[in-house]
Amino acid sequence: MRLISVTIGILALIVCTTAKLAPTIRLSSGYDIPVIGLGTFESTAGDAEQAVKDAIDAGYRHIDTAFLYGNEVEVGNAIRAKIDEGVIKREDIFITTKLWSTFHEPEQVEKAFQRSFDNLNLGYIDLYLIHYPVSYRRVLQNIRLPSDDVNAFYVFPVDKDGKSQTTDVDYVDTWLAMEKLVQSGRVRSIGISNFNSVQTDRILSIATIKPVTNQIECHPNLNQRKLINFSGQRNITITAYSPLGRPHTQSGKKLAISDPKVLELAQKYRKTPAQVVLRYTLQNGAIIIPKSTNKNRIQENFNIFDFELSDTDMQIMHDLNNNYRLINFESDKDNKNYPFNIDF
Ligand code: NAP
Repeated sequence: MRLISVTIGILALIVCTTAKLAPTIRLSSGYDIPVIGLGTFESTAGDAEQAVKDAIDAGYRHIDTAFLYGNEVEVGNAIRAKIDEGVIKREDIFITTKLWSTFHEPEQVEKAFQRSFDNLNLGYIDLYLIHYPVSYRRVLQNIRLPSDDVNAFYVFPVDKDGKSQTTDVDYVDTWLAMEKLVQSGRVRSIGISNFNSVQTDRILSIATIKPVTNQIECHPNLNQRKLINFSGQRNITITAYSPLGRPHTQSGKKLAISDPKVLELAQKYRKTPAQVVLRYTLQNGAIIIPKSTNKNRIQENFNIFDFELSDTDMQIMHDLNNNYRLINFESDKDNKNYPFNIDF
């Protein structure tokens, strides 16, 4: 028995010392974030835990989850398992989770955060984001749960005609409640997601603690050059979600990963189309968080630090931009905080 655990320990050490790590960027909070993280949206129960373990073995030290994804417990379990195996220490890994839109009222923020904090059970959260600037009504779905339980509500509440039930909570008030979480010491950095430039500046105009990142949809077909430049000037990083363009969806199939020009570049650099697409967004100035639950693809997506797209090839990639948005929350477009009604 002892021999087995010693062997596991040695193997863990070998994995730990052989996996090459990704570069990091310094956030305005003073903490460092690895430029690639594992996405976990739609990583279902069972899959998410193994995917996070495989990612850590492959060298990922940044994991992106959210209350919405329903897998915080599994993500936390996987990270703790890797800490127990001796592969990583807590401080080696950067974990992001997000406040969902049903909890935007300032008095709800603490409660929602505490649930994510308990779900992950990692001692502290590296980064907590406002997931989306539009707020939703809390509509009870599970009458067996008390109404102070965050799991008692629909995450996408709709009325009897199927219309999205949004509210007008001001995300600026939500932000002030987010700042208190940092002051409590349970989260190191805070940020925003799906915010446009005007909304970002509104936050900056009242913030004592600045958002360190804006997590937005970003891939070659929606390359977000304007928002990346705008945010850079304000020392806010951009984290690119759906960086592969969600190739499993009907719309995603039409995007860069299947474009003949990308296939050509993939041949030229002896890389896969996915690697070219991810490398592009990295060189375009964003942190990337590709999702996979497949061990080989988790590794493939990480192997992008041994080549660089030339300026000419970057221009070929820039030219693929057609502002195609995959995730547009269209049913919320009449809400005053809907972020995608302006250019950027
Ligand atoms: P994505 O990462 O662009 O695409 C994920 C899809 O690509 C999965 O179906 C995956 O399938 C497949 N895939 C992975 N690697 C591949 C490869 N090398 N070649 C071909 N296909 C590959 O899309 P996403 O999940 O929407 O975005 C990534 C992460 O961003 C999410 O998981 C989530 O953490 C975050 N996100 C945030 C927001 C937000 O509002 N803040 C919104 C959406 C997403 P397999 O798993 O089978 O490999």
